[in-house]
Amino acid sequence: MESHRAMPGIEVGDLGEKIGYSSVDNGFLSFEHYRIPRKALLARFMSITKTGDFKMKANPKIIYQIMVQTRLMIMFGAALNLSRASVVATRYAVCRRQFANVKGSTEERKLIDYQTHMDILAPNIAAGLCLNMAAREINEKIVKKSNKMIMEDDYKLLDVLHHFTSGLKALGGEMAYNGLDEMRQACGGAGFLTASGIASLWEDVAPYATYEGVNVVMF
Ligand SMILES: Cc1cc2nc3c(=O)[nH]c(=O)nc-3n(C[C@H](O)[C@H](O)[C@H](O)COP(=O)(O)OP(=O)(O)OC[C@H]3O[C@@H](n4cnc5c(N)ncnc54)[C@H](O)[C@@H]3O)c2cc1C
Repeated sequence: MESHRAMPGIEVGDLGEKIGYSSVDNGFLSFEHYRIPRKALLARFMSITKTGDFKMKANPKIIYQIMVQTRLMIMFGAALNLSRASVVATRYAVCRRQFANVKGSTEERKLIDYQTHMDILAPNIAAGLCLNMAAREINEKIVKKSNKMIMEDDYKLLDVLHHFTSGLKALGGEMAYNGLDEMRQACGGAGFLTASGIASLWEDVAPYATYEGVNVVMF
């Protein structure tokens, strides 16, 4: 503890720069021929007996429930970030003008007046709202009920929750990632600037496809 250097046989480090999700430092820790007392294991939910047997201390179904809730949080995150980007892209579309192509007018049109532009914005605005509504419905109608049932040792709703949150986590994550980039591009050169805010939102939703279950498997 005096030098704060790792003991011989222990390697600890940072995983390196990521394309987003920078608010969290992902690191690694490895032990090579290094013995530690059993009571020093990071073993809140499981333990190793003196004879070397592995034992779960917690109910695995309850541990699984944590993952289900995290997938729901990802859905809320997908909805929130998509809606934040919709606000930025819509504001840009009502300010930015391109081409005076209305007969009899010298005024340039707003981007939002172009159907092709609305075709990008509208589905993404709707997707943000729908994802939020779907996540709220699951939370209000199933999660809260399931949590109450679990307190009485009844895990019946976990099955249906698993299916809803796995599929919708994958769908929401994909819609947020693709939709955010569509709206970033809809802000032209400004969308390429980190100052637009959209680029960092897009980076933040990028790992949704990977963590808490790779989308390929979750679909
Ligand atoms: C930003 C970030 C934060 C993370 N934080 C945590 C954390 O806090 N705690 C934690 O435990 N983990 C964390 N993870 C790890 C994350 O859970 C894994 O990255 C994820 O489960 C994918 O595993 P992998 O990276 O080994 O990919 P791989 O297993 O190598 O998968 C790569 C690809 O192979 C294919 N594939 C893999 N398996 C299958 C299969 N069964 N069927 C079909 N195709 C398949 C898919 O196309 C998949 O996309 C984090 C990851 C990221 C990116």
